[in-house]
Formats: sequence, structure tokens, C-alpha cells
Amino acid sequence: MKCNCLTKVNSSPEMLATNTEVQSVFELNFKTGKVEEYTRLATIKADVKQRQKCKIVACAYCPFCGKKAQSNIDLNEERS
Ligand SMILES: [Zn+2]
Repeated sequence: MKCNCLTKVNSSPEMLATNTEVQSVFELNFKTGKVEEYTRLATIKADVKQRQKCKIVACAYCPFCGKKAQSNIDLNEERS
């Protein structure tokens, strides 16, 4: 993410006191070598009798500040 909201929220005293973290998911773009981090929304099965797994819902924009969720991490830079 371009912002630091997720880190701030997860390291806040309220979250630390309750042993809770907001989940994130990472997406690796094999063409560019860049990793993008997204805040993950919790999902549950609509019909628990179906065996199909739940889909992951990732926020394209930060739910805390509204900035577009794109990481500045570049794996090609880290390797060299
Ligand atoms: Zn943010």
C-alpha cells in the first residue's frame, strides 16, 4: 500500500491489547516483479453446506484513508 494505515492500525494500543490484526493479502506481479499489498475483508460462506471455498476480497483502495493500494516494494531492486 502507498499509505502506512494498516501498519498504524495493527500497531495501535487498542489492537495490541486485544491481540487483533487487520488481515492483508499480497499479490505478486510476475511481469513487473512488484508485490502489492491489499487490506483483506473477512468473508464467510453464504451456504455452509456447499464445499466450495470462500473467495478472498481485497480492497483496491485503503479503507482508512482512501488511497489506491499499491506497494512500492520491487523484488528486482531487493535482489540486486
Ligand atoms: Zn491508508
